[in-house]
Amino acid sequence: MDYDVIIVGSGSAGLPAWMYASRYKLRNVVIGKEPGGALATSHKVENWPGVLSASGKEIMDSFAEHAVNSGSEILQDTVSAIEKTDDGFKVITTNKEITSRFVVLASGNTYRKLWVPGEAEFLGKWVSYCATCDGNFFKNRDIVLVGGWNTALTEALYLSELCSKVYLVHRKDTFRAEDIWVDQAKKKDNIEFVLSEEVDHIQGWFYLEEVVLKSGKVLKADWFFVAIGSDPSIDLVKDMDPQTDDENCLVVDKRQETSVKWLYAAGDVTTNSNKFKQTIMSAAEGCLAADSIHEDMLRG
Ligand SMILES: Cc1cc2nc3c(=O)[nH]c(=O)nc-3n(C[C@H](O)[C@H](O)[C@H](O)COP(=O)(O)OP(=O)(O)OC[C@H]3O[C@@H](n4cnc5c(N)ncnc54)[C@H](O)[C@@H]3O)c2cc1C
Repeated sequence: MDYDVIIVGSGSAGLPAWMYASRYKLRNVVIGKEPGGALATSHKVENWPGVLSASGKEIMDSFAEHAVNSGSEILQDTVSAIEKTDDGFKVITTNKEITSRFVVLASGNTYRKLWVPGEAEFLGKWVSYCATCDGNFFKNRDIVLVGGWNTALTEALYLSELCSKVYLVHRKDTFRAEDIWVDQAKKKDNIEFVLSEEVDHIQGWFYLEEVVLKSGKVLKADWFFVAIGSDPSIDLVKDMDPQTDDENCLVVDKRQETSVKWLYAAGDVTTNSNKFKQTIMSAAEGCLAADSIHEDMLRG
């Protein structure tokens, strides 16, 4: 066996799991294709305790530095497969095959995109997939939010408390969100429903200027939120048939263990974070996974 534990993903959950695994002197390695994960793509973060304001990359660089100082290895590589063996796992990357008794899956999730011109180009500047993360930067401004499920409606309500105006764009004339959220949104003077409309493109120069709809209608706004859901990155373990919830997140117990023996998971890929996808949650779950594995190792 090459390692006690292999951590897949070098983001908000993977790096703290790595730090704790090293402190517990578990033989471990973290494998990640994009150092820093999702937070590293954010231009400004103001809700990481102890740091009033910094870029996501600065925060994630400090996570990595802390983990490296605790010892152990980081491998910048892509995991192409994880196979269950009798005594643990075989992890196959683009460059090598390694084995371990435990795996922590911390592979994050992928926000669903609209794939409209301007969206990818201005991500992190004036395009966002997370109102909790970025809403505060847009106090007293006008914003456009796209979506029709619970997330979109609850984010519209949250943003309506901060922003001057919320345009809620939805491609149908009815919502799939629960009625309670729709009713509350309808009572807000500053939420304008833009129904049976789809976004064609967004444009601006230093700042967002216009959201252009397929009908030709133009919405003037300062920020663009996409709230059409996300997909947890669980393909690597699908063949093990782990228990998942109705949003395809891995179900974990209080110790972060999945329904597959010795397979742990942490961060946005799990049910726990699903309700509140934030770095603070992911970091805590990563630490807890490493702590639980240490406990398992002590038990023998
Ligand atoms: C633009 C943006 C802004 C945000 N702002 C905030 C904020 O202000 N505050 C806040 O608390 N949260 C914020 N979030 C949310 C926060 O970033 C996430 O909740 C958090 O990063 C989730 O951590 P994670 O470790 O589960 O996933 P991630 O951080 O996404 O890490 C997943 C890692 O797994 C790697 N990976 C996936 N598949 C493989 C594979 N096959 N092989 C190797 N590696 C793989 C990825 O490359 C990545 O490094 C923001 C998110 C975004 C997108």
